[in-house]
Amino acid sequence: IPNLKTKFIGKKYLYFEEIDSTNIQAKRENYEDGAVIFAESQTAGKGRKNRKWISHKGLGLYFTIVLKPEIEVNYLSHFSLLFNYSVFKVLRNYVNGKIKIKWPNDIYLNGKKIAGFLIESSIENNSISKLIVGVGINVNQSIKDFEEDIKEVATSLKIEEGKTFSRKEIFLDILQQIEKDYLKFIKENYLDIKKIEENLLWLNQDVMILEDGKPILSGKLIGLNEDGSLMLRTDEDLRFVYVGDLSIRNK
Ligand code: ATP
Repeated sequence: IPNLKTKFIGKKYLYFEEIDSTNIQAKRENYEDGAVIFAESQTAGKGRKNRKWISHKGLGLYFTIVLKPEIEVNYLSHFSLLFNYSVFKVLRNYVNGKIKIKWPNDIYLNGKKIAGFLIESSIENNSISKLIVGVGINVNQSIKDFEEDIKEVATSLKIEEGKTFSRKEIFLDILQQIEKDYLKFIKENYLDIKKIEENLLWLNQDVMILEDGKPILSGKLIGLNEDGSLMLRTDEDLRFVYVGDLSIRNK
């Protein structure tokens, strides 16, 4: 990748005009640590729980980074927040709009979804042997590019900021930021949860937690715990919400 200033991320780089999904491609082969798989469009992009991630040819950023951290499995929940925060910091530099981290794996701009992550992992002997970090970002889509079923939730940098962006520039910034934050985390085993918390979507607001689309808990979102779980104050007590396949909604 020309102009990429990283130590190992993106040294191995695979580019596809079209592919089923960059995460699926990452799992098909045994790529080296830091390999990056990029696609102009995906025909079977995925979100969590087999939900669809829709891509628009040449308009968004769709890529996967393969990482081999060899770190204790206890740290798994931190990675989702770590990568989310890296991408958040990069996008924040490009926008004037209100940008927020939606726990655990999305980024919102002016109340709509601008980016999503799908992180998959392999565990061996209690250690994380492989992380497949899938990233989807809506960059240059116009309103008409979004399908009916995601119009309500989805937006792009272009729609919110009123101009076209260089996908290349954002992509390079993200690879560099992710490498920096990842190497620091691997070395120090520490993540500044408070900084992430400050940027949480719906912080100090009433939210509900859904499981399989059904509400299972309501309360005020009061923050993030050291382990990356959410803290909710309900009428009765304080509750911790762990990732699993839960979703959060504003009330
Ligand atoms: P939630 O549970 O709050 O809906 P999630 O993080 O679980 O969010 P994911 O499974 O990560 O959602 O992402 C899939 C969902 O994202 C789809 O169900 C769809 O609503 C939405 N979506 C799909 N493609 C896009 C896109 N290009 N931009 C924004 N949103 C999208």
